[in-house]
Amino acid sequence: MDTKRIVIKNRENPADEELFEAARILKEGGLVAFPTETVYGLGGNALDGDAARRIYEAKGRPSDNPLIAHISSMEELAPLVSRIPEAGQILAEKFWPGPLTMIFPKSDQVPLSTTGGLDTVAVRMPDDPVAQKLIRLAGVPVAAPSANTSGRPSPTTADHVWQDLNGKIEMIVDGGPVGIGVESTIVDVTGPVPVILRPGFITQEMLDELFGHVEMDPAITGPMKEGIHPKAPGMKYRHYAPKGQLTLVELTEKTVKALYTPGSSLYSQVSRIMADRGRSWGLDPESFYMAWQVNRLAEEKEKEGCRVGVICTEETRDVYTAAVKRSIGRRSSADSVAHNLYAVLREFDDLGVDYIFSESFARDHLGQAIMNRLSKAAGYQICRV
Ligand code: AMP
Ligand code: MG
Repeated sequence: MDTKRIVIKNRENPADEELFEAARILKEGGLVAFPTETVYGLGGNALDGDAARRIYEAKGRPSDNPLIAHISSMEELAPLVSRIPEAGQILAEKFWPGPLTMIFPKSDQVPLSTTGGLDTVAVRMPDDPVAQKLIRLAGVPVAAPSANTSGRPSPTTADHVWQDLNGKIEMIVDGGPVGIGVESTIVDVTGPVPVILRPGFITQEMLDELFGHVEMDPAITGPMKEGIHPKAPGMKYRHYAPKGQLTLVELTEKTVKALYTPGSSLYSQVSRIMADRGRSWGLDPESFYMAWQVNRLAEEKEKEGCRVGVICTEETRDVYTAAVKRSIGRRSSADSVAHNLYAVLREFDDLGVDYIFSESFARDHLGQAIMNRLSKAAGYQICRV
């Protein structure tokens, strides 16, 4: 199949005519990849079981891993769900359109092939003007998982989509790089307390503020344990694993405390190294020590003759002497890290390194989503120093 690629001229205000053909393809059961504010989605008619099956096939995704249905207005929600719980109403008012997906009890209209056999349906109203207009013109809810081959990093540019899906889908709508860069926050609102199934740009702190307290699914913080039944079948699948073995380096609380305690041996050691090198690159001791440790691990592997990559940040880049290094963004801006995360992982796949060592980030606010994606990519291999 020839995959047509169209480029949207004005991302903020796409013309209807630019999206007519894409909308027609969706209406007729075809597949169109399009930008959203989180990552690129691979769209198909969510009410058409065959379209859903084609999505799974194009992605190479197991068919019990459910899809998210995307809508463009609140009126489009009612036909998809059998009930709108109060928490769902509150969250929709506060965060839609936006990077939030909610799990509702599904209506009979939604085929089981879209929901991976579940009696619930995941729904999101994206904020991106291209996504919004495309869904509205298609006139159907659009099932849209990330537009990558299953097992590869999610796509944040149309080129990423092209690399994975060229020849497998009817069209790619190129709206330039996405803004946020990590997938939507998923919240299950079917129970008595909202439960976060996947962290994202809408953070636990924001949800806690609304509800007093929300719960986190245990699958978010660690590998799925034997014998625990996953909330959604999709959660049991191994996510993306880079070609090189990724190790995250994280400082323990004890280390951080010692770094700020004059008189501790670590404090003296780090002050001495920073002074020996004649400069501290303007870094705080935590950032310096983390980079120094990542560099040490990378150098060790290089000495063994391995090809090694390092995920650094703008602030710490100059600390490194080892290896191929790529900056994931600024430590001072979690937004920038989320934005670059998947592109950097894709780049390392292309570079063909054996080992990748990465700095880690504070696990609060957006850092929770960042560390969730990095930890999964590392197969939860975290070196605590
Ligand atoms: P993606 O489309 O690649 O962003 O991934 C969609 C994810 O949404 C799945 O892997 C599930 O974890 C989640 N999801 C979709 N539908 C449901 C549902 N009905 N219940 C729970 N989780 C869901
Ligand atoms: Mg995905």
